Amino acid sequence: MTPRDVLELMKQHHVEMVDFRIVDVPGRQHHVTIPAVEVDEEMLTHGIAFDGSSIQGFRGIEDSDMVMRPVLETAFVDPFMAVPTLAVSCSVFEPNGTRFERDPRYIAEKAEAYLASSGIATTAYFGPELEFFIFDDVRFESTNRGAFYAVDSEEAMWNTGNGEKNLGYQVKNKGGYFPVPPIDTQQDIRTEMVKELMNAGIRVERHHHEVATAGQAEINFRFNTLTRTADTVMTYKYIIRNVARKYGKTVTFMPKPVFGDNGSGMHVHQSLFDGDTPLFFEQDRYGNMSDIALHYIAGILHHAPAILAFSNPSTNSYKRLVPGYEAPVNLVFSKGNRSAAVRVPVAVVSPKTARIEFRTPDCTANPYLAFAAMLMAGIDGIRRKLDPTALGYGPINKNIYELSPEEKANIRSVPGSLEESLQALEADYEFLLEGGVFTKDFIQAWIDFKRTNEVAPMHLRPHPYEFQLYYDL
Ligand code: GLN
Ligand code: MG
Ligand code: MG
Ligand code: MG
Repeated sequence: MTPRDVLELMKQHHVEMVDFRIVDVPGRQHHVTIPAVEVDEEMLTHGIAFDGSSIQGFRGIEDSDMVMRPVLETAFVDPFMAVPTLAVSCSVFEPNGTRFERDPRYIAEKAEAYLASSGIATTAYFGPELEFFIFDDVRFESTNRGAFYAVDSEEAMWNTGNGEKNLGYQVKNKGGYFPVPPIDTQQDIRTEMVKELMNAGIRVERHHHEVATAGQAEINFRFNTLTRTADTVMTYKYIIRNVARKYGKTVTFMPKPVFGDNGSGMHVHQSLFDGDTPLFFEQDRYGNMSDIALHYIAGILHHAPAILAFSNPSTNSYKRLVPGYEAPVNLVFSKGNRSAAVRVPVAVVSPKTARIEFRTPDCTANPYLAFAAMLMAGIDGIRRKLDPTALGYGPINKNIYELSPEEKANIRSVPGSLEESLQALEADYEFLLEGGVFTKDFIQAWIDFKRTNEVAPMHLRPHPYEFQLYYDL
């Protein structure tokens, strides 16, 4: 897309405002709006100045001038504004025209460039599957009461705020996947989400209710290259949240909003191509996986504890990563087995669909950073020819939740808390620095930010459940 194409698109849709958007370090979008009459080819090419001082993870007030430069392929007509508005994602630049080191988008682009320069592959494809909950717009009332008040799943099921209502059509815990309406009450809202995603140029593949009772959904879109996929994740979340708002609902992507029921993940499918040639396929091997695929898997599993500091970067992430809820806990790979951290889909029958699925990540990840970290781990595995089996990462073909204690003894687990993952990152970050993709400064700032803003404040607060345990002791 050229600036001229964008101006043409604006004319076609009678666009009155142009909304420039960037992503901060934790992974939230921010925006500034310019009247369309002020927007010309020059502005679409060079971007606009903004004050970066109040953006989380960017920089202080001493040195706050920055530039947002539009990534034209991301432009779409935003259906949620009162006047026709074009939304466009931007990269962040210094006023002197160099890239801004802490722009997550820049890190993602550097990871792709590093892959290409390595000679291993030209392209990495990423296909994330985002799950989320749709709740009534009264937080922790009605459908979500169970989150705070229930002591076990049985109680969670009845403590849903339905009072004396007929519960005949209520889905039981973990029963959301996936009866037809009227049990599935969210068909129409998901369909509208899908239509708006498609209008924004996102290729949607399917939608369905997910396993959790309290309105869990999944809407899948087609894979793409790393940075473009991260762009899509941001637009996706924006659209999903705003359609929900139209229905008087809210959406949360937090990994474990409801105690006793399934959490929400962001499984990430990944594959490497050299031009048009898929590199993960080899007929008649385990899961039809090539050596390159196995090395990639080994890289992911070997560096998983550190990756999780980016792919599962919230304190809530670790409430999802527990046995019994289809969330992976074990650092092994497996063919078709959903209890493994890395799954090799069995449905892979043709070279082009050969891919691995890393099931650990969740939607609190900043997708630019999480995808970049995964790719760097995979590249490291390929460079060092790591062998997942020799390193003790499987394959395991049984349901891992049901293995005997002896069988389980040799299986490593994901970190148990955000603090553990941050410590793992502190001890294992060299693979991220290759090719200057991540910088030491950025990693340290990330760790400090997470500790100060999330780990410590959570640790210091009395938890609601502590009242249940100790109030009368
Ligand atoms: N919600 C599950 C998770 O936390 C996944 C369920 C599924 O897609 N099979 O990862
Ligand atoms: Mg899925
Ligand atoms: Mg799912
Ligand atoms: Mg999946």
